Parts: sequence; structure tokens; C-alpha cells
Amino acid sequence: MSPYQDDILLVGAGIAGAAIAQVFLQQGKRVRVLDGGPKPASGASAHAFALAHPGLIRARPLLQRLTYIAFALAKQTWQPYWREEGIFQPLKPNTGLNEALLNEQLASVGFNDASAQILRAGEARQLTGVARDGIWFPQGATINLEKTCATIFSQPDALMYQANTQVASIRHDGVNWHALDRQGQSLAKATSLVLACAHGAKQLVADWQIQLPLKPVRGQLNQFQISANSAWAAYLPSAAISGEGYCLPAQYDEVSKTYSWVVGSSYDENETSLAAWPSSDAHNRQQAAALLHYERGNLAELKLAGSYVGIRCAAHDRLPIIGEVCALPGLYIATALGSRGVLWSALAAAIISAQVQARVEQQALAGASDQAPSAALARLARLGLSADLLAAVSPARFLTGALPAALASNSKPIFPLGSSAK
Ligand SMILES: Cc1cc2nc3c(=O)[nH]c(=O)nc-3n(C[C@H](O)[C@H](O)[C@H](O)COP(=O)(O)OP(=O)(O)OC[C@H]3O[C@@H](n4cnc5c(N)ncnc54)[C@H](O)[C@@H]3O)c2cc1C
Repeated sequence: MSPYQDDILLVGAGIAGAAIAQVFLQQGKRVRVLDGGPKPASGASAHAFALAHPGLIRARPLLQRLTYIAFALAKQTWQPYWREEGIFQPLKPNTGLNEALLNEQLASVGFNDASAQILRAGEARQLTGVARDGIWFPQGATINLEKTCATIFSQPDALMYQANTQVASIRHDGVNWHALDRQGQSLAKATSLVLACAHGAKQLVADWQIQLPLKPVRGQLNQFQISANSAWAAYLPSAAISGEGYCLPAQYDEVSKTYSWVVGSSYDENETSLAAWPSSDAHNRQQAAALLHYERGNLAELKLAGSYVGIRCAAHDRLPIIGEVCALPGLYIATALGSRGVLWSALAAAIISAQVQARVEQQALAGASDQAPSAALARLARLGLSADLLAAVSPARFLTGALPAALASNSKPIFPLGSSAK
């Protein structure tokens, strides 16, 4: 049987794949998605409580700029799924509140009164239930990643989604990229192949002498149940809080007279166990007390009612890996979304769709020199994505030295067809 031929071939049906599929569908492209799992969002995106906010990141200016732009993109990309209820970011403990300096820092990033407000502990207590100095992001939101993926991948007319389809390797035939099964049979082909498959991308590009420095980071969220009679009840938040860890607003149930409260998460590098760990329960209880600045609270009154464990995929520099693989035109990567799946997935969709569009237009101009990267750059500059930001997330940052010089070049496509790369 000859393989399916589509405009875009996408590996991975998590939130990265969902954002990318959605943007191409909006452009009227034929998109095929292959995923090894039994249903959409069977990896880290099997998660109902993801937070998204632009945050103040004072120690890393480049990450701050990227986050600010990605938040604006995410708000647009995820609009139908966006529960905008505001998010509070308390200042780190023992950091004095210097309002003038903080205002200056917020303004330098681009925030205004509508997007970020400094709250003193008393004001924060009224608005969020938590008496800590900090910043209120009124546009902050939560998203159910699992539901979002399920909705996007259930559009049978527009999108060909194949579950239980593990891609074992990738190959280029000079025109198309192929996704191959374990027997080396081509499952599908397209001129543009996007690897939005978290850790899976590492193995698929290793055949092409590209070493992506990805590591697993296990995370556990807990749902706690708290009696209305508990002393905790007076401290529980009425808004989502994001600081050292995060939590959702506590929800009260009239029938059981208890609060339900989601708190997380652990950050266990190089761990891949999906089992719930008692040590993570304990960590999240401690984190809960610290978030609310209620360290003397009796942790035993946070009764365990459930947990979610996922394995994040992170690069060593803790930035996502997004963009076309230089020297392998038509191959794109969107991985290492770490703890910011909502934001980085939207960023990935914007960058990769601009790069694909630029590449397709350039191919239509027969005989033109390789202008695709600069055409994409011009497009992305309109979103505020300057060359330094694109370089910071590009897969190219890991290629220098990993590829022979000719392969690392931006100007000449070279496909090692006769090599181990199938
Ligand atoms: C506890 C926890 C809390 C979090 N909280 C937040 C939060 O508040 N806000 C936020 O923005 N983010 C949060 N995240 C991060 C977010 O969940 C991830 O960044 C995001 O889900 C990653 O999406 P993805 O699509 O890159 O990967 P995944 O969802 O893991 O999807 C990858 C897909 O690729 C498929 N795949 C892999 N290899 C292959 C292959 N060879 N062939 C076919 N298919 C393949 C897998 O089956 C999988 O479906 C949290 C994560 C955890 C663990």
C-alpha cells in the first residue's frame, strides 16, 4: 500500500501537536497526525489543570520576553478553551516590596494596569484569599489540556488522526518526509514533517546525527480534601496562585461540607515513574503551606483525594526547542515544553507555521535562492519575535558541532540518504 500523502505530517497528539494542527487547519491544509498512544493527550498533556500567565521573571530577561509574547499568542490560540480568572504571583519570601522598582520592571516588559497589578498583602488577601505581597495577572487563565487535545483531534473532516501508531524512524526521499513503522514501512509522507512528540523526537532525529539534550522531569499534582471545620478553611485561596509551585482556587462542596484543592507540583529530574509517590504527596503538602504562607497549618488535615503524575520533557537550558532543523528543510521540531505547555505550544504553532509558509512560497518560486529563513524571520518579527528569540529556541542551538559542518549550514540542504538515517 502506498503511504498517505498530506501537506503536513505531524507526530504527536499532545498540546504541542494540537496547537500546530489547529493553525494549519485554519490555513486549509491537509494535516495527518500519528500518535503512539490510544487517544489524544496520552502523554504529559493528559492533564486538566494547566495554568497560563505571563509572569514576572526578573532573573532571565530573554525568558521574560519570550514568555510575554508566548502568553499573547496562547491567549489567541487557546481562546475557546481559556478560563480567564486571573492568577496571583506572590513575591518570593523575604523580598521587600519596592513598588516603584517593581512598576518600572513591569513597564519595561510591556505590562500595564490592565495586564499586571501590584498587590500589597492586605489587598491580595481580599482578592485572592492569600495574604502575601505579589502581582495579580488578571488575564491569567487555566486550561484543561486533555479536553483541548480531545476536541482538536476529533475533527474527522479536516484532520486525519491515527492513534496507536508509533513512528519508529523518519526518512527523506528527496521530495517528501516519511514516517516509518518498525518494519521500515512508510506510514505517511508529506513535504513538511513536524515532530511534536516530546521525548520521542530525541530518538527520531538521533538517526540524523542530531543529539537533542532532553531530559524527563516527573511532576505530581495532588487533589486535597479539607473539612470546612479545619483551620485551613480560613486560608484557602479563591484564585489560582503561581509561585514556588502552584494551586487552583479551592472549591467548596455543600453536600460533603469539604473543600477540594489542587496543589502541585513536584519537579523530579530524570525520573520517569508514573506511580503516585508518598514523598510527592508530602512535598505538595509543604508546598501548599508555603504558597498560602500558612506554615503552621496541620498538614494532616490536607486529606489526599487524588493525584496526577506526568513526565515533562525539558531541554538542559530549560527553553523549548522549536523550529525548522537547519540543513534538513521540511523537518520541524516542537519539543521540550517543560512546565509551560500552554505558552510554548502556541509559540511553536506561530513559529513553525511561519517557517512552513515561507518554505512553501520559496519552493513555488522555481530557481530562487534559499530565502525561506529570512522570509519567516520577517513574518515573525511582526509578532515581536526577533532573531535572538528565535535563535534561543531553535533546534540549531544544539546542532553546532553535532553535525558535520555542511549539515549545520543554513544554506545547503543535504540529505544523507545512504546513511543510517532511513
Ligand atoms: C504535574 C505537571 C503539571 C504541569 N502544569 C502545567 C501548567 O500549569 N501549565 C503549563 O503550561 N504546563 C504545565 N505542565 C506541562 C505540560 O503538561 C507539558 O508541557 C505539555 O503537556 C507537553 O505537551 P507535548 O505535546 O509537548 O507532549 P505530550 O503531551 O507528552 O505529547 C507527546 C505525544 O507524542 C506521542 N509520541 C511520542 N513519541 C512518539 C512516536 N515515536 N510516534 C508516535 N507518537 C509519539 C506520545 O504518545 C504523546 O501523545 C505540567 C506538567 C506536569 C507533568
